[in-house]
Amino acid sequence: EAKSLGRQKVVLFDPSIDERHQLRLRYEAGLRKAIDNGELYVHFQPRFDIAGQRVVGAEALVRWQSEEYGPVPPSTFIPIAENSRLIVDIGHLVLKEACRQAARWAEAGYPVPVSVNLSPRQLHEGELIRDIQGAIQQADLPPQLLELEITETHLMDNVDQVLPVLHQIRAMGLGLAIDDFGTGYSSLTYLKRLPIEILKIDRSFITDVPGDVDDEVLVSAIISMSHSLNFRVVAEGVETEAQRAFLEGLGCDEVQGFLLGRPESAGKLLGKLRRCDATASP
Ligand code: C2E
Ligand code: MG
Ligand code: MG
Ligand code: MG
Repeated sequence: EAKSLGRQKVVLFDPSIDERHQLRLRYEAGLRKAIDNGELYVHFQPRFDIAGQRVVGAEALVRWQSEEYGPVPPSTFIPIAENSRLIVDIGHLVLKEACRQAARWAEAGYPVPVSVNLSPRQLHEGELIRDIQGAIQQADLPPQLLELEITETHLMDNVDQVLPVLHQIRAMGLGLAIDDFGTGYSSLTYLKRLPIEILKIDRSFITDVPGDVDDEVLVSAIISMSHSLNFRVVAEGVETEAQRAFLEGLGCDEVQGFLLGRPESAGKLLGKLRRCDATASP
């Protein structure tokens, strides 16, 4: 019996699964080395007021320029890191760098909040709160200049576990945003209970507006609902002026996307803050 099962296994052996596993292990080892060698760094994407005039925040987005693989997108390596505790080290690195840069912008006269993506695993590791405290203290950053983003899917799958952590974060004076909204299945009951202030509409809903009536209705409904729950609404992935204008018409509060700014170095972002300031001055 055992023998035949063993043989069956060999027959069912799927090389593509094995290859994927091998690739994953290679990436994992490569990522470990990359962290140690300083191949990971952080870019910042500006978020604008709805008129697209003023930078009201910046999102920290991790980048990996690998010597071996070239640039590796976060959609590839974050899930790998998430599976291997490497995410805790990456999260630490991003948090520290984000706080350091936001403190510099504030020092230069531009106190805009920086937002940092939290991955599920970080939220469940005990060190998170200590990590945050360490990062803001070390950078001497006012806590209200740090915001944390958590995806809707993760929030809703783990509300009971995550909620106490969110309350702790808010009690420290940090901002909280729900990211990629619309891709999960939020219940209004839960949304009402969340101590968040910002809701970011997922890019997939913005792509086809104006024009796609279903998406237009959805975006409009999300904005109304958010406002009635006292959330500020940010639209992600705004690439065209038509999209921005449409969102402005619906009363959306802020926009983020390639139309107004791509992720860039902290230095370039500071340049943008200065230029916007000059333009906005009378
Ligand atoms: P996200 O948090 O929703 O970040 C927004 C993503 O949309 C970024 O992709 C950004 O470059 C992209 N984006 C912004 N505007 C536009 C646009 O107008 N058009 C298009 N096509 N894309 C736009 P990125 O940097 O590749 O990051 C992808 C995801 O990886 C992020 O989605 C986030 O979930 C995750 N991620 C990135 N950095 C970190 C990090 O430091 N920690 C964790 N845990 N996750 C991260
Ligand atoms: Mg985000
Ligand atoms: Mg998002
Ligand atoms: Mg995303």
